[in-house]
Amino acid sequence: MTIHKLFAQRAFLPGGWAEAVLFDVDGAGNIVGVTANAAPGDAERAKGPVLPGMPNLHSHAFQRAMAGLAEHAAPGIERGGGRRDDSFWTWREVMYRFVATLTPDQVEAIAAQLYVEMLESGYTAVGEFHYLHHAPDGQPYADVAEMSRRTIAAAQATGIGISQLPVLYGYGGFGAQKAGEGQRRFLNDPSRLLRIVETLKASHKADPQVRVGVAPHSLRAVTPETLDEVVTGLTALDATAPLHIHIAEQVKEVDDCVAWCGRRPVEQLFEIQAPDARWCLVHATHMTDAETSALAASGAVAGLCPTTEANLGDGLFPAEQYLDAGGRWGIGSDSHISVSPIEDLRLFEYGQRLATRRRNVLAGEGDAASVGHRLYQQALAGGAQALGRPIGALEVGRRADLVVLDPDHPAVATLPPERLLDAVVFAGNRNPVRDVMVGGRWVVTEGRHRDAEAVQAAYTTAVSQLLA
Ligand code: ZN
Repeated sequence: MTIHKLFAQRAFLPGGWAEAVLFDVDGAGNIVGVTANAAPGDAERAKGPVLPGMPNLHSHAFQRAMAGLAEHAAPGIERGGGRRDDSFWTWREVMYRFVATLTPDQVEAIAAQLYVEMLESGYTAVGEFHYLHHAPDGQPYADVAEMSRRTIAAAQATGIGISQLPVLYGYGGFGAQKAGEGQRRFLNDPSRLLRIVETLKASHKADPQVRVGVAPHSLRAVTPETLDEVVTGLTALDATAPLHIHIAEQVKEVDDCVAWCGRRPVEQLFEIQAPDARWCLVHATHMTDAETSALAASGAVAGLCPTTEANLGDGLFPAEQYLDAGGRWGIGSDSHISVSPIEDLRLFEYGQRLATRRRNVLAGEGDAASVGHRLYQQALAGGAQALGRPIGALEVGRRADLVVLDPDHPAVATLPPERLLDAVVFAGNRNPVRDVMVGGRWVVTEGRHRDAEAVQAAYTTAVSQLLA
């Protein structure tokens, strides 16, 4: 077996920063040895401090090409009281129009550009919450999994690990309301959705870089029966596969859920399912104290997307209470209005500071008294769990997914190790990521992805067609 040896003068291991670390990586891209206080010997030398790559647990790839298109009062949108009525719901109308003509080739080109940006910013895995399944007229492609194959192809070409989560979308609102025209490309019943899952699993069963799960879109888009059918069907195919759902993003969504069933969304999900460590509740933004405690106790992951949630005017997650209760969480770039784990972690803490008028709100004890340390470490663990892959830590048995920080970055160069993650998260806007390895292969060197130029050229062509 070929073993690649990588030596780091400083690396962030599960127990914290360690010095003189020698990593052994096998030909399949798994870490098979980690030795601290080691001699480098003939190992390749990492050019700076080494961190585990960050999992990005929530992505809608095609929305990358929409970033910047919905930051004005959009013409053609019905507004009740004038220009200030733009909301999540008017943004969604812009998105539906954008999605109407997208082709598989365009989706693949956009996803590749997005994944290059993710890798260059330090994300090494993505959860693709994928609802754009069908042709513009709503008919399935000849291969019902066509669109999912395109995001997976983009992941494979760029080198990012992927958990593909085909979305169950059946209805336009709570209580099995008929879906609208803008939603026709998203619709599947549970059996066709499970066929997509099965097809993808069969195609990628030997690939450690690809995992397949399921994402019921939201309680708005499924019924308790279709949700149950898809959860049961997925469990039969793969008892540990990830299950993601949008849960309580908007106050209107909470109100509509209460009007329909008498319970709030998180409360309702716990009533009809038993969310556990397989589950990721994306945008668990609006929760009562009881819901927050129940989610924290369940072992499920809260999927947080602070920059998108800010962009869409969603609200603030009850972070302090949830973290105090030991709740698990990770981050996603969701609509890709920003593609930076640093910006999402920073905004997560800053939202709490602005709301409470205190500092270091999400600090913990010991090493985790450093906010950067605690946030980075918990986002790694929650992200890895939510994506259902052996990632998120530099230890034996995990994938060799790692980020080398730029030793010449002013903060990285000057601050002591115990402040390094605070430096990364809070000190400035220059990207501190120098090199990125995924599954044992370098995909970013000196800040640049190996195919950045070609991928961007294809992206520019795709988007200029779309906006023509
Ligand atoms: Zn989403």
